[in-house]
Amino acid sequence: MQSNNSFPEKLEEIELLDHLFVNCNIATMANNCYSSIIGGAIGVSGNKICFAGKKSDLPLDFEKRASHIHDMKKSWILPGLVDCHTHLVFGGSRSKEFEMKLAGISYEEIAKQGGGIFSTVKDTRKESIDNLYEQALKRVNCLFNQGATTIEIKSGYGLDLECELKMLEVIKKLDDNHAATIKATFLGAHALPHEYKGKSGKYIDFVVDQVLPEVKKQGIATSVDAFCENIGFSLKETERVLRKAKDLGFDIKLHAEQLSDSGGAGMAAELGALSCDHLEYVSKASLKKMAQNNVTAVLLPGAFYYLKEKQKPPIQLLRDLNISTAVSTDMNPGSSPLLSLPLATNMACILFGLTPEEALLSATINGAKALGLEKQKGTIEVGKDADFVAWDIVEPCDLSYYTGSSPAKMIVTCGDVIHK
Ligand SMILES: [Zn+2]
Repeated sequence: MQSNNSFPEKLEEIELLDHLFVNCNIATMANNCYSSIIGGAIGVSGNKICFAGKKSDLPLDFEKRASHIHDMKKSWILPGLVDCHTHLVFGGSRSKEFEMKLAGISYEEIAKQGGGIFSTVKDTRKESIDNLYEQALKRVNCLFNQGATTIEIKSGYGLDLECELKMLEVIKKLDDNHAATIKATFLGAHALPHEYKGKSGKYIDFVVDQVLPEVKKQGIATSVDAFCENIGFSLKETERVLRKAKDLGFDIKLHAEQLSDSGGAGMAAELGALSCDHLEYVSKASLKKMAQNNVTAVLLPGAFYYLKEKQKPPIQLLRDLNISTAVSTDMNPGSSPLLSLPLATNMACILFGLTPEEALLSATINGAKALGLEKQKGTIEVGKDADFVAWDIVEPCDLSYYTGSSPAKMIVTCGDVIHK
């Protein structure tokens, strides 16, 4: 569900509040920290936040002007979480492959038996829009019920015109029908399809000349991503995709430096990317370019965990260079079948060494920044979309401290209240 941006400038202009939430504690996540308010109140008018502060600072007549008053019984209210990197639309299942890997069967043997990303491509190509939608909806619900009110989803398991468009249509249908805000990213340069074996340049020609213009024409994606890696596409190839995407007016992002350093992050930063994602092997030179161009670093601890990687992203360097970090599930069937953003924040703390406050910023305002949505989402501030979650927790850091629980009590998206 997308929001509109019309909002009264002054409190006096608001005649009626749709909702007033009182008796709550708020971690607004504004100003790059928890910015906690004890004894807070939040007012919602239409789909926007019109008051966020101490209840004692509430204009006196606000309670009279509110259609619904919610006693939050001292729950903590935090911004709706933003999962800024997922691949959750796909056909088939790869759980058998997980069993095989753990039984010691090699990657080559698994691929020979039809496993790996190309099994997902095969299964996604043959599924109908309705079946892909039904499967993906379960995953969106799972993320949403654990607090993610904004979710980005990439295409990239079609790798031909028809199926890439089909995936983007499924993502659009999810956005049209779900309470969460869903953002679509085109990831045609995800892997080289078998029909182009040995001809990656030709495949990039196809993506750049035929698929990207069609995606633009249909208006069903706002961003374009690519996989810059030895097992993906080269620096030059991904640069061609991103340049064309930029020319067509898309936002751009890049899977960069997950398994080796190809210099992708620096290249994408110079082209004005919103985010560079993974970054385990990123160089200091590329990070400096990211810092100069205000690019968000998206950390994906789920893939690091499932692939049992050893090289961690350079957290201290990211801090030293003042680069915003986001954390996302990277939900995908091959390397990160992770359906909980709070759990991803726990992994970012334990595996990468983020503090719980950094992890929570990463899953809220910095996730929004990675999607170009920082003016609408990610903090609880007047004028922003009324997307927030009431949690049954004692402190905000409980979200990345406990694992396996799902303490969301109430989810508000664009002003609509959903009780759990
Ligand atoms: Zn990914």
